[in-house]
Amino acid sequence: MASERLKKKAMSRVSWAVASGKLVRPTVCEICGQDGWLPKRTNCTDPWTGEPSPDVYSKDPFIIAHHSDYYKPLDVMWLCRKCHCKMHDVLKAAAEHVF
Ligand SMILES: [Zn+2]
Ligand SMILES: [Zn+2]
Repeated sequence: MASERLKKKAMSRVSWAVASGKLVRPTVCEICGQDGWLPKRTNCTDPWTGEPSPDVYSKDPFIIAHHSDYYKPLDVMWLCRKCHCKMHDVLKAAAEHVF
């Protein structure tokens, strides 16, 4: 699937940019200001892996890069898992949704 390839490309661009210091991954969520520590299991699918977010992730402070446009791989929103899941719930119906 072309969009899958685009998604992977955009994700790797972000990882590369973060690793090289071009992009700074903030420690807090842009929406709720949470620091990315998720105290409880979420009921949504982890968009990174496509698997249900397991408990083990709850100890993993993690802010996710959410792309609104894969063609702008470095134009991302930094969201905690909770807000990212919410975002994807909102966008689920949209055919154009990206990661
Ligand atoms: Zn959040
Ligand atoms: Zn996303």
